[in-house]
Amino acid sequence: MTGNPSLRFAEHRNPNPTPPEARQAILADPGFGRYFTDHMVSATWTRDEGWHDAKLEPYGPLTLDPAAAVLHYGQEIFEGLKAYRHADGSVWGFRTEANGERFMHSARRLALPAFPVEDFLASIDLLVRTDLAWVPSGEETSLYLRPFMFASEPFLGVRPAAEIRYLLIACPVGSYFAGGVKPVSIWLSTAYTRAARGGTGAAKCGGNYAASLAAQLEASAHGCQQVCFLDAVDRHWVEELGGMNLYFVRRDGRLVTPELTGTILEGVTRSSVLELAKELGFDVEERRVGIDEWRDGVGSGEIAEVFACGTAAVITPVGCLRWDGGELAMGDGGAGEVTMRLRQALVDIQYGRAADAHGWMRRLA
Ligand SMILES: *Cc1c(COP(=O)(O)O)cnc(C)c1O
Repeated sequence: MTGNPSLRFAEHRNPNPTPPEARQAILADPGFGRYFTDHMVSATWTRDEGWHDAKLEPYGPLTLDPAAAVLHYGQEIFEGLKAYRHADGSVWGFRTEANGERFMHSARRLALPAFPVEDFLASIDLLVRTDLAWVPSGEETSLYLRPFMFASEPFLGVRPAAEIRYLLIACPVGSYFAGGVKPVSIWLSTAYTRAARGGTGAAKCGGNYAASLAAQLEASAHGCQQVCFLDAVDRHWVEELGGMNLYFVRRDGRLVTPELTGTILEGVTRSSVLELAKELGFDVEERRVGIDEWRDGVGSGEIAEVFACGTAAVITPVGCLRWDGGELAMGDGGAGEVTMRLRQALVDIQYGRAADAHGWMRRLA
């Protein structure tokens, strides 16, 4: 349910946009998060005035006071979502409202002001329409949208900041798996945890990512691409990866994903897979999954496939799990059949090749 946007965005066009040839060269091989479009949207909140000074402006560096609270105490949240170009040239968002609602939820946890979902959606519409030529059209390419909010108030006292900036930037992204979907290797972190009860695990904040980097280094040192975190109390229950949720596919056709206990980030992809899997005839369980269930289940063949899911890489097969003292391949270590079926079902909806029975797609341009 969304009402009318309350903010009016002033429009200041970039007088020096990227020349079309240079843009085309970028779109031919955009990578991830390297090249940004010609514009951004910004707005400022102050305790006295609320949200104001909303505008579309040329993409460019910010001026920030060195005492800005975010640089010291990390009061920051963000979102990540994509705009997809369909075969007829139209551009669509996928469950954009869900990201707007999660942004509100994250804001509450980080003591940041509410940014109404209607304004969140309006900022996305405005940027995508303005930088429409930056939405790529290649196989599994998209325009990645990064809304974020941070404490800009120059003040070193510890309290919720009285001045906040909202920004929205966008970058074209290529297919995460150029040359075919490849399973990832996962390091099981026993030295580090990601989130504790009452902490910020269910909010999308930069601090969670900062805290995951040491574990990520440990994973790389062990030749793994991603980290799996266990719960912080028993160090036993499987939670999620640093930026993706997990699913287990059982041989009997049941799908299991760790339940939301307050320490797991509720992924939009995770929720979508829950619904799609049910429609494809799978029983889906949200419950706690112990690390022994994972290891024993793969060993005995009870667990046939494991996959990770998130907006950036959609659905990614897990090829192997490694920990201090052992290693286990999932099945034959390749991409599982159920994993790939769910992946196809999801991207077909996102790219307009399958009917959107859930009303998940929203036309942006
Ligand atoms: C963003 C994120 C996810 C995935 O969420 P999606 O909405 O599916 O992109 C999973 N875990 C963490 C910690 C995240 O930050």
